[in-house]
Amino acid sequence: MNTAYLSIGTNMGDREVNLTKAAEQLRRTDGIESVELSSIYETAPVGLTDQADFLNAAARVVTSLPAEELLAACQRIEKDLGRVRTIRWGPRTADLDILLYNEERIDTETLTVPHPRMQERAFVLIPLTELAPDCADPVTGRLYREAPAMADEGVRRWKAKEDSGPRP
Ligand code: ATP
Ligand code: MG
Ligand code: MG
Repeated sequence: MNTAYLSIGTNMGDREVNLTKAAEQLRRTDGIESVELSSIYETAPVGLTDQADFLNAAARVVTSLPAEELLAACQRIEKDLGRVRTIRWGPRTADLDILLYNEERIDTETLTVPHPRMQERAFVLIPLTELAPDCADPVTGRLYREAPAMADEGVRRWKAKEDSGPRP
């Protein structure tokens, strides 16, 4: 079994519904055993700033799928949620990126892991380190929670994580 961390972002349509559906569809995917979602954060757009605010979350996924198949599953879900690729980094109903896959380094034409831009993105690191406080970059060994981008104040907690633990 493998543990992967995903970043999910959305800034079109009903953003919370998009996130919920993305998580549901991950859970329904053959070869995905479990999905744990972080709190939901709201973030002003970075890069291309003239677009609506994003909701972002991270997901811990336990899966038997190889990384390339997990990427294919993510892309199917993006498509299913109505994502149309127009401008790079533009508005989207759902973006599902693979941040980490075990401690592996992957560099193929279609997949780079760890995600090459995650270090600079508070909207990725804040939800990720909520789920996995002690996780470190498999290449440099640096703790993500100590990354300078973590200090970014543009990421607000929008909805607290649902307690996934057993109920009394
Ligand atoms: P960014 O990668 O900067 O977050 P984006 O998520 O908007 O931008 P997409 O249009 O979703 O970019 O993806 C472009 C391509 O990136 C995909 O076709 C996919 O093959 C490739 N890719 C490479 N590494 C990854 C990864 N770790 N997770 C998801 N896609 C990846
Ligand atoms: Mg992305
Ligand atoms: Mg993407």
